[in-house]
This record gives sequence, structure tokens and C-alpha cells, in this order.
Amino acid sequence: MKRSAAPSQQGAAKKRFKPPFLATPGTENTSSNNNDQNFTKPQNPSLSGVSSKAINKGHGVGVVTLHNHANIREETSDNTDMRCTPLQSRALRLVQLSTWTGAKPGVDEASHTITPESGNVSDLKQDTSFPSTAQLLPGSINEKDVEDLRSLKNSVFKSVPRQDRQYSSCGPQESSSSSLSRRSDSTSSQSTGSSGRFLSPASNVRSKVEGAEPLKQYFTVMWAKLTKKKHKTWEGDGILVISGRSATLQDMEGKEICCAKGYKAEEVENLPEGATLKVGSKEVEITGSLTTDAYTSGRCFNAVQKRELSKQEKPKLTAPVAPKPFTCPLPGHVESKSKLSQSQTVVTPRFDPMAPGALVMLRPLSTHQWQFNKNGTPVVDVVVDPHVACHLRPHQREGVAFLYQCVMGMREHVGQGAILADEMGLGKTLQCIALIWTLLKQGPYGGKAVVKRVLVVTPGSLVKNWCHEFHKWLGKERLAVFAVTKEKKVKDFLTSFHPVLVVSYEMLVRHIEHIRQVKFDLIVCDEGHRLKNSSIKTTSLMSSLSVQRRVVLTGTPIQNDLQEFFSLVDFCNPGILGTSSAFHNIYEVPILASRQPGALPEELELGRTRSDELSQLTKQFILRRTQEVNDQYLPPKVEYVVFCRPSEVQLQLYRQILKSQAVRRCLQDVSNTASHLVGIGALKKLCNHPCLIYEAARETEESSERMDMSSSPFIGLLQHFPDSYSVQEPSSDEVGKLTVLLTLLSSIVQSQEKVVVVSNYTKTLDILETIVKGHGYKFLRLDGQTPTDKRQEIVNLFNSKYSQHTVFLLSSKAGGIGLNLIGASRIVLYDIDWNPATDLQAMARVWRDGQKRTVHIYRLITTGTIEEKIYQRQIIKQGLSGAVVDSKIDGSIGFSQDELRDIFTLHEDSACVTHDMLQCECSGRKVVSLVEPSSSCSSSNRQCQLGINKASVKKHFGMENLLDWEHKIVPEKGDPLCAASDWITMIFKNERASSQLNKEVLSKMHLEC
Ligand SMILES: [Zn+2]
Repeated sequence: MKRSAAPSQQGAAKKRFKPPFLATPGTENTSSNNNDQNFTKPQNPSLSGVSSKAINKGHGVGVVTLHNHANIREETSDNTDMRCTPLQSRALRLVQLSTWTGAKPGVDEASHTITPESGNVSDLKQDTSFPSTAQLLPGSINEKDVEDLRSLKNSVFKSVPRQDRQYSSCGPQESSSSSLSRRSDSTSSQSTGSSGRFLSPASNVRSKVEGAEPLKQYFTVMWAKLTKKKHKTWEGDGILVISGRSATLQDMEGKEICCAKGYKAEEVENLPEGATLKVGSKEVEITGSLTTDAYTSGRCFNAVQKRELSKQEKPKLTAPVAPKPFTCPLPGHVESKSKLSQSQTVVTPRFDPMAPGALVMLRPLSTHQWQFNKNGTPVVDVVVDPHVACHLRPHQREGVAFLYQCVMGMREHVGQGAILADEMGLGKTLQCIALIWTLLKQGPYGGKAVVKRVLVVTPGSLVKNWCHEFHKWLGKERLAVFAVTKEKKVKDFLTSFHPVLVVSYEMLVRHIEHIRQVKFDLIVCDEGHRLKNSSIKTTSLMSSLSVQRRVVLTGTPIQNDLQEFFSLVDFCNPGILGTSSAFHNIYEVPILASRQPGALPEELELGRTRSDELSQLTKQFILRRTQEVNDQYLPPKVEYVVFCRPSEVQLQLYRQILKSQAVRRCLQDVSNTASHLVGIGALKKLCNHPCLIYEAARETEESSERMDMSSSPFIGLLQHFPDSYSVQEPSSDEVGKLTVLLTLLSSIVQSQEKVVVVSNYTKTLDILETIVKGHGYKFLRLDGQTPTDKRQEIVNLFNSKYSQHTVFLLSSKAGGIGLNLIGASRIVLYDIDWNPATDLQAMARVWRDGQKRTVHIYRLITTGTIEEKIYQRQIIKQGLSGAVVDSKIDGSIGFSQDELRDIFTLHEDSACVTHDMLQCECSGRKVVSLVEPSSSCSSSNRQCQLGINKASVKKHFGMENLLDWEHKIVPEKGDPLCAASDWITMIFKNERASSQLNKEVLSKMHLEC
């Protein structure tokens, strides 16, 4: 009757509690250190030979939950028919909780192996007292019952001190007496002499009195299939959760193996180490107890790896200044390697760590030196090159120190990966360049460089941008960067001496075989959220590269989707969160369950604890700062919403379109979204320029004989165009907005400033191009057709202070990521998109890191037209959700009949419909002092308009915020808009260092710097 423990369990087995009542009387071996302890052969035939002949081969630990419950039920993963969906399980739990009185299962006292009364698994399934399937359906639960149960549970949890619900492990020297006493009086659960190792009698009594104690106990166990064979094989370790009188066995990845209910209270109350318990079709042996915290935090599972650090040596984020005196190095002084090996005492830092503003990296702790500096090379300070460090802002210095500690393996997590998830505009690229440059030249051990070759993977559009940034911060002479382009192939890199390779994700996949030939020491993944799906080829190829140090850059919030989060983290620090399925069971399922409406208090608690644990773990290597860090560095910003009078031609055409059968019909048919969009599209184009609808009008006229008059909004439009109308030579005076734009351009160019003009339509850009060219302005243009490899060139040309190009025509849809147009200090949004994010992204091209001048943002809107409606809708949407809405969903969602009627109305008698809606009585003369917003237009006592929730308005930009802006009919003297005042009906102006709108919305945008 020998038992042998698996290697991982041997230590535990030595100390394992040997309850004497398990031993055959007279043969009891009191030496608890004896691994060959005999176990009594169980009396129950169904379990005979099970515990006594077990051979433990497993490595796992498990948990069992016991629920209060009258009837026995078994659910095992072997029997898929019997498995419950989460919903069913919840229903089941509730039914069980509500019907816990009744027949109790039997217990084999002698072996402490609990068996059902019948003692046979097959009998269980026929147990007619078990709730029928119908009873288990959610609908069958009385809501009142659920409520009662909840309050009952809450009161119970409050009434019992936490420690009373836990076991501590049993020491061998005390086992005999406690077990004996237990045996002598097992029903009263007295544990005299056990010094608190079991539940205190008081708590047991209380639980019986209250009768509602869903007592939770957690154990590590070994488990095996129930078998009658002489030699049992432990299949693995697990976690046993006992809740009241139910038990659940989970594997070490948190997956439920099986569960069983209906135990007698005394069977499961005081499970000692070494006790066995039948759970469904499995048998478990208790190997240890767990605290509630160990379970709810998820730390008991095999998932998480942590570096062992002594408490005194916790690394700090900011590096301390080196304490030792410094022997002055020559500027740019480099230690030769031969010199180092000859004499270890002369190693000096590359840069003066005592110099003012020196950015000194953390010195390795003794644990780190033990691991990475086995030769005992002298430790030297790593100091970021002052040439780069002088450009770093405080948050960037912190970021570089953080990245350094991560990739050096100096932080608490196991692994050498980091995720820098700063919002766009915080200079992630610069932080990375500082890190790369430092690691390429320095190291803490003898000054030896930490890395020799670095791989930077980035979207194709940013390859040139990276090279540009390297050169900008380091100069071309310091560091040779190899960028893979059409001309420079990956295989050329193999024979080159460039320390840095910049490659696009696409080229990496294509040339992975070449890349594998190079030994890289650090990999940087820009726009790393591309790796969020671990199943895609790029991710698996990247993961397969044998590079330990991995830095992922992303501006996208990554914690919203837990599976994506897992993929990123697992790429960065492989295995740190366990396997994907373990992560799913231990974190994702409980966290998501706790977010469901109607989650039970218990689920809320578990989800919260696991979520906290997860963020605690991952904050070791994830750093995210928001835009607000940067706002203090950005120059002031002045926003203008300029309402422009439509021209007579525009008005005539507009009226005609609204009169068309197509539009009138779509007012009646609310469901026909396609026809709405045709009508809306026609009006939007008309606002930009009539020639955008000229072709459609001409074609409609030509084919009008054959066409259904009701299908096109362009019918009858042609007669309103002049006979000699030419699309090739669009005129500027048929459009109010265009006249205003040209006036602006003229004064901006005169003042030696540069301007970006943005449109959502390529065709509109064509018109603007023709007109800008006609006026003799030197311009550049970037739209969807601009080749990726030309974009950076165009941007650089525009931003150069020597460039003569004063106007930049930009398609908002082609802007893409990383587009930096700080050469301009003014930006004109020529038209408006349904999605506020599109416009805000465009603004962020200019009002961003690196901008030195006050930025002026002009939004042009045609008065009384659909453009005003879109603008209002944008603001309302921001006010309601506070979030940026996805543009794809947005344009196609349906409108209500009232909304449609409003959209297809032309307000010819108003100077500004938006101002009318504000019910502001300033008559366009509202001035706001910069220090204190004027209260003349105060909205405090008025009903809020447009159904905006007041609470949300406070938090997010909404209609009411416009009341804090200046309202002007006539531009101020000296304002560039002055010359166009005939065409302007109203101006809203907001002059603040940083408006709430932009803080709020920019912080939600997924832009990259
Ligand atoms: Zn006003």
C-alpha cells in the first residue's frame, strides 16, 4: 500500500497531515514524515482500493467548491451532456441554494472519502430527487427568491470574519491529537488542540444556526479518475473550491473539471490535508489549503510568473543619481573592450552621471548582477547621451528609464518586454530612440553595450518617418539606420554594418528568412496593436524571432479587449500570463461575467479582484500616459466656427433639390436609408461647390426621358447652371465658403504663415487645387492616391522653414497615422464629417507636439444648410456619449422622420441656426474675456436643449459649451476673416490654451505621433 508523490509534491507530502482515523487502528504510524503512511482501505465498495493504491504522477494543484444543497448531482467534463452553460450554472446555484434541505449524501467516515448515499455513480443519475431540467432553467427562478438569496448571502458574508472562512495548513506534529479529537467527536466539529487549524467552533455553530452559510474553502489538490484499479494514477494538480456543501474541481488553468453537490456539512467542513473526496467522476486528495485571497486573486493558478526580488530592492521608476564621485571622462569617451578586459578598474561611464540634467539609468540590483554578471565585471552607470537627453521632457525621461528597466530584466516581471502605450503626441518614438541609442553604446557591466543590432518594425507609411526621427535626434553621423525600401532590400542589410534595421510589417513577413539570419538583441514594434490578434501570420512570425527584448509601442488603449490584450502581452513577455486558455478561464471569464448586468455580488467581487490582480501584474511592464501630460507644452489654440452665406446659385440649386420628388419621397419612407444618403450627399456636394453636382445634373437631364422622375434628386437642376458652365474652371464666387477660404489664404500667406486645408472629398480637393493654383499659391497635396513612400517627402518639404509651399491640401481620409504638419499654424476644415473624430484628427496634425506658434483652426459651415445640421449632430453626439463614434456605423444609421425633415430643410432667414438653437440673446455680439467666461449668455437657469443630459454636458463638450464661446456677426478688425465679412453670417470663436473639447476627445482618439 505504497503511495508515492510526484516531485513537485514531495515536499508537501513530507509535511502532509496524516489523520489517524484514516489509518487502520493498531497499525497507525505516528511519524508524519513517513511517506509510506498506510491508509485504511475504504469501507465503501465503490471506492475500495482507490486511495490506498494511488500513484501520484500529477503536478497540479486543484480547487473544490461546495454548495449548500440537498441533492447530489454530478457534472463532469467527461459527460458533456450534463455540462451547464454559465447561465444554467447560475440558475442551478440559485435553485440549489433555495432547496438545500432534504436528503443528505452518505459519508464514509473511516476513509474520510465522501460518497453519495447510494455509493454508486450510476445511481446518482437516476436520483429522482434531483431538480429536473425544467427547474434549472433561468425562467423557473422566482425573482423574489433570487433577491432574498442575494441579501441572505450578503448578510452571511458580512457576519463571518474572513479568516474564519479559511483553513491554514496542518502541521505534522499536531496532526494526531487534532485528528483524534475530530474522530472522537466528528459531528460537533470540535477541533480542540488544533490551534485554529480548523474552523473555529464558534463559526461553525454560527453557520449552523443561521443555516445559510455558503462557506467557501479553497484547497490545492491532486485529482484522478474514480477507479477500482489497484494502482491509481493522479492525473494532475487542481484547485478545489468548496462552497457550503458543493465542490468544484478546477485545473491549474482555471478550467472546471467537474463539480458535485449535496455533501453533508461535516463531510466538507474540516477537510484535512491528505483527505480524499469524491467530486463527480473524480477523486481528489487534499494537498494543502489556500487563502481566499490566493484564490480570488488568481495567484493560486499556474498562470503568472513573477521575478523574485527582495523587498528592499524594489526598483523605482526613476533612476537614482549615481552616488559615487566621478572621474571626468572626455566628451564622447569610449572604453575600448580590450582595455576593459585588461584592467577592470578603469571603467568609467560614457557620460558624466553628475552633470546637471543627466539621465542616469537604474543600477542593477544584486539579484540582477547575480544573474547577468557572473564574471563580476565592475558595474558602471548608464547615462543617456546628453545630446538626446536634453530634448526629453519629464514624462519622456521617465519613459526611457522605464523601458530600460524592462528590457534589462530589472523589474518584477519575468521577461524583458515592455509596452509603451502613451497616447499619441507624447513622443513614443523619441523615447524609443533614446533607449536604442543608449543600449547600443552602453551597458551596466563594464560599460559593454547591451545590444548590437536592433530591429524596428513599423507600418509601411512610417518607415521613412522612423529614419527621419533617428536622424533628427541623433544626426546622421552618430547612427547608421538601414531602412528597407524599394531600393534597399533586406538581404543587403545582412552584409551591411548598420546597427538598426527599420522594416515594414509587410516586408518583414516577406523577407522573414533573411531577417532570421541576423541576431537581433532588441525588437521594437511600432503601432504594436497590429499584433493584437495572435493567430495572424505577422504575429506568429514576430513571436518566432528569438529576440528576448521586445518593446511594443501603441497609442491605442489596449485594455478594452482582453483577448487582444493577452496577445500583446504574450508577444511582449511570452508566457507571462500563462496559456491563452488559462488566461481565458482565470481572468477573462470572471472579469467579463462581473461586467454583465445582473452579475451576482460574488461574481462582481471575483471579477474585480482578478481585474486588479491583472493590472497589478501588467503594470510592471506597461506604461500609459495621456494627452494631458502634453497639454502644458502645447501652444494656445484658437477655434473658429465660421458660418458662411451660400451664394445665389447654391440657394437656387438647394431649393430645387429639396423640391425634387426623390427628396420628398424619402421624407415619407424613413426606412430607405440609401435614398437618404443620395439626397444628403447631393446637398453636401452642393455646399462645397455646385460643379460637384453639375455632371450628375447633366446626365440626369440627358436621360430624363428614360428615367423614373422620382429616383434622382438632380432632376431639373441643369437649368439653374449658366449655359457656359465649365467644370474645368470652377469659379470661386459661386460658393460662400470658397470666398471666405480665399480671403483667409490671402491674409495667412501675407503674414508668412502656412495653412493646411482639409476636405473629406478628393473631388473637392481637385477644385481647391485648381483654384489655389489659379491664385498663384505654391501648394502641396496629400490624398489617398499619394504613394506611401512619397508621403514623408511631401510632409518634410512642407514643414521645412525654407519651403515656399504655403498651402497644404489634405484629404482627411488619407491622413493616416503619424502625419505631422507642424509647419503650418493654421488649418481650415473646408467641409464637415458626421464623425467628429475625423475633424479632430485633422486638427491634431497641426496642434500637436512640436508646434511653437498659436494654432488657429477654422471650420467653414454654409449657413442654414445641411452642414449646420451635421455640425449640431457632431456636438450632440459628443455631449451624449463623450466618445468618438465609429464613422463606418455612423454614416449609414437611420434617421427618424423628424430628423430627416430637419436635415432636408433650408433655413434662408437665419444668420445661424445653431445660434438660434442656443437661444442666445446676444445678437452676435457676445464677447468672452479670456480669464473669466462672461455670464451674459449664462445657461444656468435654462432648460438644456436638444435633450442633452446636463451631467454629461459638464463632462463632455456639448451644445451648451458653445454659449461660453464668443459670438460675432462681424469679424474683429485685423482678423484675417475681416475682408470676407460680406460672406460671413456668424462666427463662434473660442480662445483657450486648451479647450475641454480637445482634451476630452483627443484623449480618446487613436492617433499616433
Ligand atoms: Zn450669442
